[in-house]
Amino acid sequence: MQIESQTTETTPVSVTPTPRNFFALTLGDLETLFKSSGKEKFRAQQIYKWIYDKNVTDPDQMSNLSKDFRIELKNMIRFDLPNVVKHLKSKDGTQKFLFDVGDGKTVESVVIPAEDRQTLCISSEVGCNMACKFCFTGKQKLQKRLTADQIVGQFLQVQRAMPEGHRLTNIVFMGMGEPLDNSDEVFKAIEILNSPWGTNFSRRRVTVSTSGIVPEMHKIWENKTRLAVSLNGYDDDSRTSIMPINKKYPLKDLLKACEVYAKETGERVTFEYVLLKGITDQLEHAEKLFHLTKHIPCKINIIPFNEHPGSGFERPSDSQVMKFQQLLIGKGAHVLLRRTMGRDIFAACGQLRSEFESHPQQMDTSNSKLIRTLHLKSNSLSSHT
Ligand code: SAH
Ligand code: SF4
Repeated sequence: MQIESQTTETTPVSVTPTPRNFFALTLGDLETLFKSSGKEKFRAQQIYKWIYDKNVTDPDQMSNLSKDFRIELKNMIRFDLPNVVKHLKSKDGTQKFLFDVGDGKTVESVVIPAEDRQTLCISSEVGCNMACKFCFTGKQKLQKRLTADQIVGQFLQVQRAMPEGHRLTNIVFMGMGEPLDNSDEVFKAIEILNSPWGTNFSRRRVTVSTSGIVPEMHKIWENKTRLAVSLNGYDDDSRTSIMPINKKYPLKDLLKACEVYAKETGERVTFEYVLLKGITDQLEHAEKLFHLTKHIPCKINIIPFNEHPGSGFERPSDSQVMKFQQLLIGKGAHVLLRRTMGRDIFAACGQLRSEFESHPQQMDTSNSKLIRTLHLKSNSLSSHT
C-alpha cells in the first residue's frame, strides 16, 4: 500500500507589511522606503508638497502621480490623523481637543490664546509613570506612548480647526505624559514639525517640559528646543514628597543639567512651580526657591494648583499667590504667574479625558466637520516666545 507522504511544508504566503503612517516619516525615511521598493526618490518630495504645501492628503488627488503609483502608495502608507472626538471652547477663548489615539485611549491638547500668540499644549503619552502626587495624569499609570504621527497629528488637526488667518505660534509639551519618557517619538515629531519639507514650525517656539529625567535632558538643547522644568519643590525633601522622580535624579543633578542648557543655548530655563496650599506656597518656601535657582538664568512660572477630585491637595488663596509672587519679584527674580484659563472646560491636566471617559455617551464628534482646507505650513514668524 502506498502511503501518501505528508508534508509539513506550507505554501509561502506573502505577508503585506502594515502600512506606515506618513505623519511619522521624515523626508529621508520616505526616500529610503521608495528606494528600497524600486521607486523614484523624487516622488517623496512631490508627496510632501501635496501634504504640507497644498493640504492634500488623499493620494487619489495627487495628480502628478500615475494611477498605478497611487494604488501602490496607498498600500504602502497610511495618511490618517488622530480623530477629534471632542472639541470644547471656553468663554475665555481657551480650546480643548480630545483625540482618539487607538486602543480605546484618548489624549487632549489645549490651545491657549494671548494677545500676540496662540500656544498649543500638546500630549506625549496616555497616563504617566512619573506618579507626581498632585497630577491627575500621574494617577493613571502609563498606558501608551504616543507615536510621532499622533504628536504631529495633534498639531495638524488643531491648526486645521483654527479660524481662517489664525495660526498656532508656540508649542509646549505640557499636556499629558512625560515627553522625555518618550523622547525618540517626541523629537522625531519635532523634526517633522520643524523641517522646511514639513510644517516649518520654528524649534525656538517649541518648549519641552520635563519632570527631570536628567540623562535625557541633553536632547532638549541638542534639538534646539526650549526647556521647562517642573520644579515644584524648594529642596530635595519637599520635591521628593510630591515628585518621586527626585529620588532617582535629585536637585543637584537636575540643576546642573539646567546650567548646561543655559550655557549651551544662551536661553533662560523656565521653572514651573505648582503652588499647593500649605505645602509649597509659604513665604519661607519662596525664599528657598529663590536661593535654589538664583545662580541659573531662569524664569519662574508659578502655577496655582488646579484642583481635581480626590487629589488631597488644595489651591492657595489668590492673596497667598500674590504674596508668594511679590516676594520673588522683590528679590529680583523673573516671575510669571500662570493665569488659570479654560476652567469652564476643565482645561487642567487630564481632566477632559476623565470627564469624557466617565460619560462616553456625551461624546460630541460634530467638531470633525470643522476641519476644512487650510495651509498647514507655518509662515515665518517673528521671533518671540
Ligand atoms: N510631564 C511633564 C509635562 C506635563 S505636566 C512635566 O511634568 O513637566 C505639565 C505641568 O503641569 C507640570 O509643570 C506640572 O507640574 C503641572 N501640573 C500637573 N498637574 C497640575 C495641577 N493639577 N495643577 C497645576 N499644575 C499641574
Ligand atoms: Fe507625569 Fe508631568 Fe504629571 Fe508628573 S506632572 S505625573 S511627570 S505628566
